[in-house]
Amino acid sequence: MAEILPVEEALERAVALLAAGEVVALPTETVYGLAADATRGDAVARIFEAKGRPRFNPLIVHVDGLAMAERLARFDPLSRRLAEAFWAGPLTLVLPLRPDGPIHPLVTAGLDTVALRWPVGFAARVVGALGRPIAAPSANPSGRVSATTAAAVAEGLGARIPLVVDGGPTPVGLESTIVQVAEGRLRLLRPGGVPAGEIERVAGLPLERPGGPVVAPGMLASHYAPAAGLRLAARAVAPGEALLAFGPTRAAGADRAAMVLNLSPAGDLREAAANLFSHLARLDGSGAAVIAVEPVPETGLGEAINDRLARAAAPRPPS
Ligand code: AMP
Ligand code: MG
Repeated sequence: MAEILPVEEALERAVALLAAGEVVALPTETVYGLAADATRGDAVARIFEAKGRPRFNPLIVHVDGLAMAERLARFDPLSRRLAEAFWAGPLTLVLPLRPDGPIHPLVTAGLDTVALRWPVGFAARVVGALGRPIAAPSANPSGRVSATTAAAVAEGLGARIPLVVDGGPTPVGLESTIVQVAEGRLRLLRPGGVPAGEIERVAGLPLERPGGPVVAPGMLASHYAPAAGLRLAARAVAPGEALLAFGPTRAAGADRAAMVLNLSPAGDLREAAANLFSHLARLDGSGAAVIAVEPVPETGLGEAINDRLARAAAPRPPS
């Protein structure tokens, strides 16, 4: 069972676990978050594993100030104005990633944008002491409501994680509001702790609501899709195809492949999750028209890996 420590005593232990690639449940002002080092794929894979999430949707990255945020993403003037007005606080901004920055692609689900927030209190102190950003979705098993007390976190995830930091009931109790500035317009991706009207007042612009009044989290992030076609559950490779391999045994004809990358030669699903988006991008960059993908088992993290492969293989929606 997870150790439960009050915030006053937890900083050193939380930072040590995060630095070792572990996950830690900690309070933010919105809801409890399940945090991991956002620069490490193995650590971020543990978030999905502990939550039992069947999909790799992009996670919010938590920073300890505008300076760290500016190192990770490019701010347009309006996004910067919103950050200055509402940070630290329950506003998340979706921004273009800086190329070659340290955020692991599993955090952004391979997208070229990143969702950033500067939280109030303990979570920001952890980021400062770790010296790196943390990814943190809500600290509840997939499909359950967000936890707003340490007891609720421990009840849902206690058997799967090493530490729950108890900061009492979270003051906001709702997720953050997520907005994105694109082409001078302001879009509301998820309503949350900062009321839309306050954002409109600071921005001097109306907030556009793309999916109607209620937007389910995760519905709006467009999905990473390679330019190459994907052929799933491939048992053989055709000449000229690139191969995304998994495990110790190779598909027939692998020696003819234009390029081969293995998600995990040992067949470890956590390692495979951590490599998924970067391997797909590199195989896509080989110029092969088709990427053959060896079968990945549907157990544990395999469900989310297969979900993402199926989406990448699906015909593109009209843009
Ligand atoms: P959470 O589970 O609280 O971490 O919230 C994550 C949500 O933030 C996702 O479900 C998306 O709706 C949104 N999000 C995160 N990153 C992005 C992104 N790069 N682009 C668009 N939406 C994002
Ligand atoms: Mg959640």
